[in-house]
Amino acid sequence: MVPTSVKVPQVAVVDKVSLPAGRSAVVVVDMQNDFAHERGKLYSPTAREVIPKIAGLLERARARGVRVIYTQDTHYEDDPVEFPIWGPHVVRGSWGWEIVDELKPKRGDVVIEKMRYDAFFGTPLDHVLRMYNIQHLVVTGTVANICVLHTVASARLRLYDVIVPIDAVAALNEFDYAAALRQMDFLYRVTLTKTEGVEFA
Ligand code: ZN
Repeated sequence: MVPTSVKVPQVAVVDKVSLPAGRSAVVVVDMQNDFAHERGKLYSPTAREVIPKIAGLLERARARGVRVIYTQDTHYEDDPVEFPIWGPHVVRGSWGWEIVDELKPKRGDVVIEKMRYDAFFGTPLDHVLRMYNIQHLVVTGTVANICVLHTVASARLRLYDVIVPIDAVAALNEFDYAAALRQMDFLYRVTLTKTEGVEFA
């Protein structure tokens, strides 16, 4: 039987993580209008709440020359895999597909269009990271237990070091948020911290 109430295991959240700027990237997952704007098709309010945290982190990262990588969930108009689950969203070229105004990519940033939850699947992300000699990924964005978790997991399976600031990832509800952090902490050995704890040396 599936339990209806469970005790949430504690996860370890460290105060500070110092990363080599030249070998690190901040990854912003799916911060697009359909997910993070009130008029978006799959809007979740927590995605809007993390925008200032991500914006602050990006400002500090850019000031240190840290590479910024966006993932952009991208679907054809009749995606037969995800639309039966979620309904139509982030159709390529639509307003909902665009990254939110507050976090618009800047010159020199990398934008990876992805069709599935995992940003490595069927995309050049791994090649881009190797090309720029990046080993440390600070992963932010939405949704914590879906595209963020799958991308984090995929990065760890490829032996990248992954850091997740827990105040910069959004989920649809508390259960999903806690479940995602638990998997990151216990299973994938991700370093969990808060945005203010991430330093680029
Ligand atoms: Zn999608």
